[in-house]
Amino acid sequence: MGSTPIYKSGLHQDRFLKVALDEEKCKGAGFCQQVCPKNCYELDRIRHIAIMPRSDRCVQCGACIVQCPYDALYFEDPEGKMVLPETVRRFKLNLLGKRPVKMKV
Ligand code: SF4
Ligand code: SF4
Repeated sequence: MGSTPIYKSGLHQDRFLKVALDEEKCKGAGFCQQVCPKNCYELDRIRHIAIMPRSDRCVQCGACIVQCPYDALYFEDPEGKMVLPETVRRFKLNLLGKRPVKMKV
């Protein structure tokens, strides 16, 4: 599971960040579904995009944002301000998620 937390951090309680999807960028690749530790995602096989039927489970770990190859996901605060994927990656809010990483030996 890498560094993915499975409980919401108290540090995030006052930020009320939520995950938002740019449907124009989403290609339905499904990495978000694979890495989410709380099983928030499903794929809409007709529209070929991710959907979040269980967004209430989100612990704001950032794994889906970090792992989306198309930068289709980002955090949004209550005023609509975006926290872009590059920022989430730079500050390592999440490193690996559930996605397996091959180690060189
Ligand atoms: S990983 Fe990104 S492109 Fe793929 S389904 Fe999720 S949001 Fe869409
Ligand atoms: S930030 Fe993304 S990966 Fe993490 S719990 Fe929320 S929806 Fe799942």
